[in-house]
Amino acid sequence: MSTQQANRARDGRDEESEEEYVPRVPKRTPMACQFCRGRKLKCDGRQTCANCQRRAIPCTYVPVQKQ
Ligand SMILES: [Zn+2]
Ligand SMILES: [Zn+2]
Repeated sequence: MSTQQANRARDGRDEESEEEYVPRVPKRTPMACQFCRGRKLKCDGRQTCANCQRRAIPCTYVPVQKQ
């Protein structure tokens, strides 16, 4: 048995001095789709939420951009 294991995974130098840009996106309540927003319904936040699924309408989500 050879117990010689060379871990040569890092080939090169990685500078980690700069902080990574991490956007703050709080994941709390699922975003309501357009339809639920307009009607103030409780959206389950699914790709096609229950309300839209029932009505067979396209469930669309618009990302909120804060500036
Ligand atoms: Zn919805
Ligand atoms: Zn929907």
